[in-house]
Amino acid sequence: MRFTGRAEGDLGHGGEYVEQVDPAVEARRRAVVDRPWIWLRQVHGDRIVTVDPAGLGAGEVADGSVTREPTVALSVLTADCAPVALAAPEGVIAVVHAGWRGLASGVIARAVEAVRACGGQTVVAAVGPCIHAECYEFGAGDLDAVAAALGDSVRGQTTAGRPALDLPAGVRRALVLAGAELTYDADVCTACAADAYFSHRARQESERQGVVAWLG
Ligand SMILES: [Zn+2]
Repeated sequence: MRFTGRAEGDLGHGGEYVEQVDPAVEARRRAVVDRPWIWLRQVHGDRIVTVDPAGLGAGEVADGSVTREPTVALSVLTADCAPVALAAPEGVIAVVHAGWRGLASGVIARAVEAVRACGGQTVVAAVGPCIHAECYEFGAGDLDAVAAALGDSVRGQTTAGRPALDLPAGVRRALVLAGAELTYDADVCTACAADAYFSHRARQESERQGVVAWLG
């Protein structure tokens, strides 16, 4: 499993899904891990797709994927949303794209359920670089919606003292509620760490980092 950043270069297409991956993007992906990358049409929803031995599932409209298949690499791409990887020792992995809409609609819970449906029992999780509360001013109504789903730990403050979404806290809470154990947190803000990560919100960057996970 790897969380990527500026060092690995742009791994996406400006946040858009394309049928034909740019050869330069493909080369950068293969430099991270040289397997077929399963990537998704991410829509900030809660659907998790199961990737089978033939690699079916690639290109689906989903915000996470799960597999027992050792020949592929699962990926989601992010710029400020949280990239999350899940694993179970029974040989199941998953990746999740968790922004505020996905969090509120239960994408983390759906992903943990998907790992269990594939035979995973003890589910561990890792969360990568994402925007942190100090940089993520948030409207009161949207913040209430996330808090209604995950509790008040998601309420944070910006550096200027404005209401903010604490996205990592939301991910942590969703994992606890789903019965998964967080074993790694990159604990870095994509907006603050300008030298290391792309940020759509802070710098209007179109490039994407993300998480890639594979078995074996
Ligand atoms: Zn920050």
